[in-house]
Amino acid sequence: ARVKVAVNGYGTIGKRVADAIKLQPDMELVGVAKTSPNYEAFTAVKKGYKLYVPKENAAKFEKAGIQVSGYIEDMINEADIIVDTTPNGIGASYKPLYQKFGKKAIFQGGEKADVAEVSFSALCNYNEAINKNYIRVVSCNTTGILRTLCTINSKVSKIEKVRVTVVRRASDPKEVKKGPINSIVPDPASVPSHHAKDVLTVMKGIDIISMAVVAPTTLMHMHLMNITMKEPVRREDVINALKDTERIVLINSSRTGIGSTAEIIEVSRDIGRYRNDIPEVVVFEDSVYSHNNELFLMYGVHQESIVVPENIDAIRAAMNLADKNESIKITNDTLGLMK
Ligand code: NAD
Repeated sequence: ARVKVAVNGYGTIGKRVADAIKLQPDMELVGVAKTSPNYEAFTAVKKGYKLYVPKENAAKFEKAGIQVSGYIEDMINEADIIVDTTPNGIGASYKPLYQKFGKKAIFQGGEKADVAEVSFSALCNYNEAINKNYIRVVSCNTTGILRTLCTINSKVSKIEKVRVTVVRRASDPKEVKKGPINSIVPDPASVPSHHAKDVLTVMKGIDIISMAVVAPTTLMHMHLMNITMKEPVRREDVINALKDTERIVLINSSRTGIGSTAEIIEVSRDIGRYRNDIPEVVVFEDSVYSHNNELFLMYGVHQESIVVPENIDAIRAAMNLADKNESIKITNDTLGLMK
């Protein structure tokens, strides 16, 4: 029987995870939950998804003419596992409810690490998540950092330390009240940023320091990474390792003319990818530079979609449906990842 999955919080991440679950041969979507009767609730129902709401808000949905299938508790009761994609910090407040119903749950990077038994990034630590009841998929930025570091550490040679600067998008495209629109802001103002700490929840003990600025863009994040390896490193070896890895793609800017996040997104639009999503880490091949033990690279992270394949793998790990390679392959094939 297919695993019954519910999505609590149908926003930027939740809608993508729900669509992805619909494509999995071993999963069934019970429904999605939302608190406010906005356009996302309307489109969920339009797509044929069962919509569940808090009891106290049901009248508002009715007034808005949005058909509701039940209350959030009904959805949780019917599911084997819940993917919690509610806003930052709300997921933790739902944990007692998931526990009350004896259901497993996948949380997102906006939650504190202690909400779950394990923080998760499929390429790095799939096996640690097998059979766990509570798994936290790390944030979009951390997913980008971890895919890159785990690949280099396992396929090139051992990493001694990492220094990374995160240039964050100011808001998702749908968000109208966030900024800045004319400035680049250190965020947080102090160093290190929380990204390094988040990486440590998966790559325990690694020497990593991160800094972050927020930039007036909605399309993607960009990371500027400097890694010191334990031994001298060759550029070709790094490029080959990245080329050889699923969920990482390289673009050669001089050959393709793709030299910015705007052009990456434009390609995604041109090739008709749903919602312009790019769940792969997109490495600017020309930026890969080695100097003795030091390695430099820059890559883009599509914040809205990069964690979607990881959420699907986290479900499989929690329910012990497949081993790491099998799960990654099914997820990549069904979601149409480039590799
Ligand atoms: P979002 O605001 O787009 O969506 C959240 C959804 O949850 C909305 O539909 C909202 O109606 C619903 N919601 C709010 N309160 C609720 C409640 N009490 N019960 C049920 N539903 C409720 O948020 P998002 O950007 O999708 O973020 C969700 C999580 O994913 C956060 O932890 C965030 O840190 C993480 N994340 C976000 C991004 C990103 O770039 N947007 C990337 C990676 C991870």
